Amino acid sequence: MHELSLIVAITEMITCDAALRGITRVTQVEIEVGELSGAFPYALKEAFPLATRNTIMENASLIVVDVPGIARCLSCAHLFFIGIHGWQCPNCARTAYFIESGTELAIRSYEGEDKSPQGLGIQALSHVREGTVNHDEGKATIP
Ligand SMILES: [Zn+2]
Repeated sequence: MHELSLIVAITEMITCDAALRGITRVTQVEIEVGELSGAFPYALKEAFPLATRNTIMENASLIVVDVPGIARCLSCAHLFFIGIHGWQCPNCARTAYFIESGTELAIRSYEGEDKSPQGLGIQALSHVREGTVNHDEGKATIP
């Protein structure tokens, strides 16, 4: 199950980031999953409780934002949905294009609580917009 390793990588990435921010419990995670990313949202949701068990993310909710596959034709600059129109521009029928979106698998944000004695006990919201996951190796990186 490819998605389990992706969720494990996301869990490790958020756990590291949360430690730096003093967040002791994560309550919600929002990820973007591109239509062309090769990852299935339902499988990511299924793997989430397994990967987060016994971590600070246990029992957190997972929100998956689907990102459509959109391409820009290199001949006429027409934007089209790859998933619907296949791999050909519906305007000029050429097959040379640039992919604008749909390949991403990224952490959009996560929410957590700081329950440390030094903390204020208020809910914290952290954004890791640039966080990405390497699909091939299932490893997470924080730039
Ligand atoms: Zn075109």
